[in-house]
Amino acid sequence: MKHLEALYFDNSYARLPDAFYSRVRPAVQGDPYLVSFNPAAAELIELDPAQAQRADFVAYCSGRELLPGSEPIAAVYAGHQFGVYVPRLGDGRAILLGEVKTSSGQRWDMQLKGAGPTPYSRMGDGYAVLRSTVREYLCSEAMHGLGIPTTRALCIVGTDAPVYRESVETGAILLRMAPSHVRFGSFEYFSHTRQYDLLAQLADYVIDLHYPALAGTPDRHGRLLAAVVERSARLMAQWQAVGFAHGVMNTDNMSILGLTIDYGPFGFLDTFQPGFICNHTDHQGRYAYNRQPDVALWNLACLAQALLPLSTEETLRAALHGYAGIYNQTYLELMRAKLGLCTARSEDEQLIQDWLGLLARSQLDYTNSMRALSQVTVAGHCPAMLRDRVKEQPPLDTWLARYRARLKVEQSEDQVRARRMNSVNPKYILRNYLVQIAIEQAQQKDFTEIERLLTLLRRPFDEQPDCAAYAAEPPDWGRHLEVSCSS
Ligand code: AMP
Ligand code: MG
Repeated sequence: MKHLEALYFDNSYARLPDAFYSRVRPAVQGDPYLVSFNPAAAELIELDPAQAQRADFVAYCSGRELLPGSEPIAAVYAGHQFGVYVPRLGDGRAILLGEVKTSSGQRWDMQLKGAGPTPYSRMGDGYAVLRSTVREYLCSEAMHGLGIPTTRALCIVGTDAPVYRESVETGAILLRMAPSHVRFGSFEYFSHTRQYDLLAQLADYVIDLHYPALAGTPDRHGRLLAAVVERSARLMAQWQAVGFAHGVMNTDNMSILGLTIDYGPFGFLDTFQPGFICNHTDHQGRYAYNRQPDVALWNLACLAQALLPLSTEETLRAALHGYAGIYNQTYLELMRAKLGLCTARSEDEQLIQDWLGLLARSQLDYTNSMRALSQVTVAGHCPAMLRDRVKEQPPLDTWLARYRARLKVEQSEDQVRARRMNSVNPKYILRNYLVQIAIEQAQQKDFTEIERLLTLLRRPFDEQPDCAAYAAEPPDWGRHLEVSCSS
């Protein structure tokens, strides 16, 4: 376990040509202090968690002081925002401090979010508010706990500097981590500006570091798209299966590694509403929950378009063509597991859809209903959570009869199945109302709720009796919290 100064920086992105980024200096406002520290992320970079107690820890984690080897940069990228191409975006309030390389050769971008303006800040101030920082911090760790690929986060530093949004808010900085923050939009930038040498350089950079099996293969750039298609399709299946809505699936928020990235107005489903829109400003519902798989494919088509100068239309089309199959198969596998099915049969898809239809029409809580399903027995027990709350009793009985018949086909044993189901159907998710309580307390300088959620959501599948209340459906005030892009 290392001291801060012993972290080894190997800044591969900063070694790319100048056209990829601007060198910047973080410009932290106010008086930084530690809001939360995540030892699980520290472990990833072999950092001794006791380092968080150092008086100068916040100075390093806010960018006020730079560690040896750190070379702060802001990356340029473009992107389709709500379907419209924006030729130049870039890290407007993110600053890559550098890449920490571990003793096993793993690489972690150490990126500040909210540490001041960069040449890509456009109309923005380069800062972030405590509210959005807490949301990203907790959600990225919650997603990791759920086994969903995501960026991670080492800590939150509060600044107490005023940040002006719809009202004056408290500023904060997130120190987030990922093997890479390269986005679809990074490729779009070099392609649309016709800098094809740089486009190829970016593709080869991503291949060498993150898809090494493709290096040196014929049409490696076409294969890169196929690999990204596969990871993105799997990611979408995981989002849909857990009931996660991202909210701003612009191509600049799509990771080339298939990670969940750039948490903004995200939301987990409470009641099962297929058309759920978590982003208050998304009036058309472009990024509604049930549109996400299609949107990801649309975004992948933008990436394919950007890669066209490096490959052939035929190869790229074939890669895109693979998306639906991978998505459908992965989603079906995940949902079968959530229903406790071990084998695959052709009727399963309909069984799953009809179950979701029941939930939607009765407006049942998605997470808690999935969890309750593990208590259904082959002999006939049905938990009260379902029996009392599904509005359509005869259709529920019909569905349960089909489900039980299906379980019998594979000689499913109640207890064994229940255990298996509880290991894939979370008991705890980061519900909007839970994070809202943590935010309001943090704004009063009480960070205990952040710690509690961080600990709880590390093991979302385990019963944690002292935290049973955290599995509760939202109270009335917490049902329709409005979350917008403003952060
Ligand atoms: P997002 O959708 O939040 O990922 O952000 C889209 C673009 O706007 C990115 O280029 C961000 O860097 C930029 N941006 C968002 N908020 C700010 C801000 N407060 N200051 C500067 N740039 C910002
Ligand atoms: Mg973004």
